[in-house]
Amino acid sequence: METILFLAHTEDDGSLGRAAFEALSGATDLHRQMSTATFAVGIIGGEVSAAATAVSGCGASAFYAVAGSDFAVSRYATDAAALDAICRAAGATIVVAPATARFNRVLPGVAQRLGGRIDTHVGGFVVNGAELRIQRGYYRQRMIATLSRTVRPWFLTVDGGVFPRWEGATATVPIQSLTVPVGDELRKTKVVGFKAPLANAQTIRPDAKLLFVAGVGWTKKQGDGQVHLDDAATTILGFLDKANASLGSSKSLVDQSSEGQNVFSFMSHLNQVGQTGSTPRHPKGLSTCCHGEEPHVVGWRFIGERRAINLDTNCGWAQGKADVLYVADAFELVRKVTELL
Ligand SMILES: Cc1cc2nc3c(=O)[nH]c(=O)nc-3n(C[C@H](O)[C@H](O)[C@H](O)COP(=O)(O)OP(=O)(O)OC[C@H]3O[C@@H](n4cnc5c(N)ncnc54)[C@H](O)[C@@H]3O)c2cc1C
Repeated sequence: METILFLAHTEDDGSLGRAAFEALSGATDLHRQMSTATFAVGIIGGEVSAAATAVSGCGASAFYAVAGSDFAVSRYATDAAALDAICRAAGATIVVAPATARFNRVLPGVAQRLGGRIDTHVGGFVVNGAELRIQRGYYRQRMIATLSRTVRPWFLTVDGGVFPRWEGATATVPIQSLTVPVGDELRKTKVVGFKAPLANAQTIRPDAKLLFVAGVGWTKKQGDGQVHLDDAATTILGFLDKANASLGSSKSLVDQSSEGQNVFSFMSHLNQVGQTGSTPRHPKGLSTCCHGEEPHVVGWRFIGERRAINLDTNCGWAQGKADVLYVADAFELVRKVTELL
């Protein structure tokens, strides 16, 4: 019989992050499909009681915790020791965890210590009788493979945006606190803090509710026969700032910079969405000055509600690729919407 173990780590404030709640939805969905399996939860962090309470109603029959100042920070040696202890205590055969930077770093090592295997980017669970199969995207999510393994424990990390956030009432559950000895050999790495770009310097925001795509139209001659690059930059950045949106781009726009043309300094190839770019996940998307050609739109696979602004009534978005197309001047419309935000 399988034992499903859901693993999470706390954030700095002792709460669980969005990715943890989403992966928990995946784990509870898996438990529902594998009704004979035992279901357990394991949490690591500095102080884990708030996190344990938040997930107490998920239906798990056992809750394990490794807590203390040594486990408050993301350090491979202490994280590996803590997770190893939880997996052994739970007798885990299937381990589901969010694909956070902290877990991505440590879980492959834990799988190795336990003689298990790990698969990343899991996009769904299918249970066929007693056999678990996972779905995983390849080739920029254009091919979905269904995989199974006999080796246990089987570690599975789930990307953000795949499952909805788990929500449920709290329950009174006993937490089994595990003691993991930490000697100096596990403390060789000192975590001194985080260095992150300023929020306004970071235009790719995976957690944003909205993907704002800018196409090459922003750099083209407009109705007055002139290009308006400064105006375009101010309009795009103004909207991003107010809407806290993530910035995507068409290939044509980001390619311009490599051709030595004067384009936007806040944009790089990392922003490119599409067949040879990224396939981000956001609940909503707004395309502006972008034609909506197929190689671009394939990158919108995981965007929920899609809207576009284009001067051309026959652009690609009008061909069934957007839920709403505003036939309008994006300069005017985006400026107006920003004013209203
Ligand atoms: C193998 C291959 C892979 C590719 N991979 C990708 C990819 O990953 N991602 C990608 O994006 N593309 C990709 N492409 C390129 C893609 O086919 C298109 O060429 C590209 O997406 C076009 O970019 P665009 O829509 O910004 O520019 P354009 O096609 O030039 O469209 C600009 C649009 O702006 C509109 N516009 C101009 N001014 C305004 C205004 N004031 N208000 C509103 N609208 C305005 C115009 O009406 C026009 O529709 C790929 C192509 C190939 C062959």
